Amino acid sequence: MKTKILICSILMLILTITLATCRNLEDTNNDPSLLDAQESCIGYQMNTRIAESKNSFYFVKDSFLYVIDKNSRKCMPLCSRPDCTHDKGNNDCDAYLFIADGVVNYSDELYFLDEETYNDENGQVVIVNKICKMELDGTSRQDVFKTEELRIWSFKLHRGYIYMLASPYNDDGSANGSHQNLYRVPIGKNGSAELFFEMSGNGHDYLDLRFFGDQMYFLTSEYVSDGKENYHFWRVDLSTGDKYDLNETLDVPVRNLYSIFNEKILFTSDKELYECSLDGSSESKIADCRSYADNFDWYSVISCDSKRLFIDATHDGDFEHRTWIVLDENYTPITVYTLPFKTITFSACMDDSMIVIDSERKELFYIDKTKLGCNDCAQLIYTFEE
Ligand SMILES: [Zn+2]
Repeated sequence: MKTKILICSILMLILTITLATCRNLEDTNNDPSLLDAQESCIGYQMNTRIAESKNSFYFVKDSFLYVIDKNSRKCMPLCSRPDCTHDKGNNDCDAYLFIADGVVNYSDELYFLDEETYNDENGQVVIVNKICKMELDGTSRQDVFKTEELRIWSFKLHRGYIYMLASPYNDDGSANGSHQNLYRVPIGKNGSAELFFEMSGNGHDYLDLRFFGDQMYFLTSEYVSDGKENYHFWRVDLSTGDKYDLNETLDVPVRNLYSIFNEKILFTSDKELYECSLDGSSESKIADCRSYADNFDWYSVISCDSKRLFIDATHDGDFEHRTWIVLDENYTPITVYTLPFKTITFSACMDDSMIVIDSERKELFYIDKTKLGCNDCAQLIYTFEE
């Protein structure tokens, strides 16, 4: 039961909050062994709903791609057509994306999922799943990868490859979303994708996948029996292909969101904060999270940047008083911040910036992280139309 509550909590957390976390982008660009810019996003399964470039944030909402200028903090649909009204029903608008599950900035080009259909010689509708790219200004859309065999649910790009969580199409045209596997294909290469990581067992929830240098981390929960779940925390060495389930050797298994901070893996278990090395060794308890902020039911590591680690503290079934515990590199509290938002679709952080969507109020906020905890640290910068 406890595990079930934890899963519900995690799912609610991930579904309601997608936080971007990153090192300083320039550090990332200068040191290819570290995080890709896409790793600034934590998303349910693998979806990255925020991308960032040197000058802008990009995010998808209601099938539209928006861009926020970091300097002016002006937000608008990413469309350069002079007479366009950016109507939701207007497929000619540059900002309209057919599948609105994510956007990735890879080498200063924006990648996203798309789909097209055609009728084969028997009149049957064939669905083509596509990964497309375009320039940072929204122009020059082109297809990068097409498949009629796979339903692509989400993707990331890393070191020259597209990694896709996908399911094969059945003969009846359906695809089983609870049996996804990880496929990959070199960027720009046509043909079939390689089955890179196959899930065994009865089905999995895919909680988080992220890359760090030549390592890939993949947290899944497998349905076992009697409503029980088995959490796997995979590390894949991309240089050798070797796979390790770190939860088999960790004293305290990872069953919750995690983050990579100061080249260590940070996670919580039962209200306590832990760290371990990138290979799962040198595990140690850092603190009881209740010493930072007491009386919460759940504490989850949700985000970090090069300076700050964010722990999300919530009550069971009540996200109204969601609180962030913000720690510095020595795990000393910088602030404990009760969020002024009821529900959060996602937020992002880069450098000292962060953006947050309050989906209930349809509002977009900019947060100055250096002012976290002050009353004026969140600034309303955009209100979405219905
Ligand atoms: Zn438009």
